[in-house]
Amino acid sequence: MKKNRKLFRMVVGVIVAISLTTACATHAVPPPPAAAPPAQTTTAAAPAAKTTAAAPAAQTTAAATPAAVTTAAAAPAMPSAADLQRVVKEAYEKFKDVTDGKNADYIPELAKVPSELFGVVIVTAAGDVYTAGDVDYAFSIQSVSKPFTAALVMQEQGDQAIKDKIGVEPTGLKFNAILATQIIPQVSVNPLVNSGAIASVSMVQAKSAEERFNKILDFFNVLSGATLSVIDSVYKSEAATNQRNRAHGYILAASDRIYSDPMEAVDVYTKQCSIGVTAKQLGIMGATLANKGINPVTKAKVIDAKYVPKVLAIMMMAGFYNESGNWAYTTGLPAKTGVGGGIVAIVPGQLAIVGFSPRVNDAGNSVRSAKAINYIVNELGLNIFGSGK
Ligand code: GLN
Repeated sequence: MKKNRKLFRMVVGVIVAISLTTACATHAVPPPPAAAPPAQTTTAAAPAAKTTAAAPAAQTTAAATPAAVTTAAAAPAMPSAADLQRVVKEAYEKFKDVTDGKNADYIPELAKVPSELFGVVIVTAAGDVYTAGDVDYAFSIQSVSKPFTAALVMQEQGDQAIKDKIGVEPTGLKFNAILATQIIPQVSVNPLVNSGAIASVSMVQAKSAEERFNKILDFFNVLSGATLSVIDSVYKSEAATNQRNRAHGYILAASDRIYSDPMEAVDVYTKQCSIGVTAKQLGIMGATLANKGINPVTKAKVIDAKYVPKVLAIMMMAGFYNESGNWAYTTGLPAKTGVGGGIVAIVPGQLAIVGFSPRVNDAGNSVRSAKAINYIVNELGLNIFGSGK
């Protein structure tokens, strides 16, 4: 009996041991699946980080290093000083003999500017300046002024005010198209075409036209780190021939899209367009946008960093007017042109490129300036959509 009982206990013991082991084993099984998902997430996060450079994913996983590496590779690397100086000189040499286009003459004074003038400038977000050609000649800023006044309005009233009161849609039409202003109730314009720019000027908060203009001029002074002034002959010439812009002013007034006296706004706008800048000064204005709103030379904080992407967005969509699509397609940088021959293009976080050459095409965009900037962008792989290399 005793033997049997002992045997019985042994058998029970073995059975209990076996079932315990099995139970433990059963309990032990879940942890791997439970542990598996994090492992899978980590693995999954790595490819995601590779293809999208998604910072949040990278932060939560061990994939941070590859993501960081990939992000750095996706953004164009900052070119060396030697390369910057080389491409500025090359762009100048390569296009200095191009004679396509002609000086704008609907503002008679612009026809008198020597057509041969040609300057190329790069100003980095660190304040380094690289130049070739006529970079100290003061020409009228014209429409290159428009994004900067829009920035001033954002500083005063926030970026939503620009969206609500003017609009941010490209028109696909010429810079001075009356049609663009007429269809405002259906499709907004933007601060970079004449009607939107006149509206933008009218939004600058001031009690008088004089105060409004001085605010704009002061803002441009801080942006450029210079003391700028109106080229009086250009102002008088445009003021005497700006019937079309006055028409914009009245049509805007008729649809409640102007925010000061319309003729006063047109006059301040005309003065703003007549402000003289050199290619170098414009380069610093552009580099302030490239440097999150801080003038890289004087270190003055001019535009809140949060507004800079808004300004660059409208430049990307409408900076070249009815050639904005072509510019995005061939060059891929936010930029702004003016009929005085200036163009400024921005590589966010890195630098600004300026071209100055008075001969413009039918769209009012400087031929050699555009070619020079396009050359530099392609040489250094600065297209914000990727270098394609
Ligand atoms: N002052 C010029 C105008 O109103 C500006 C045009 C331009 O530079 N595209 O016509």
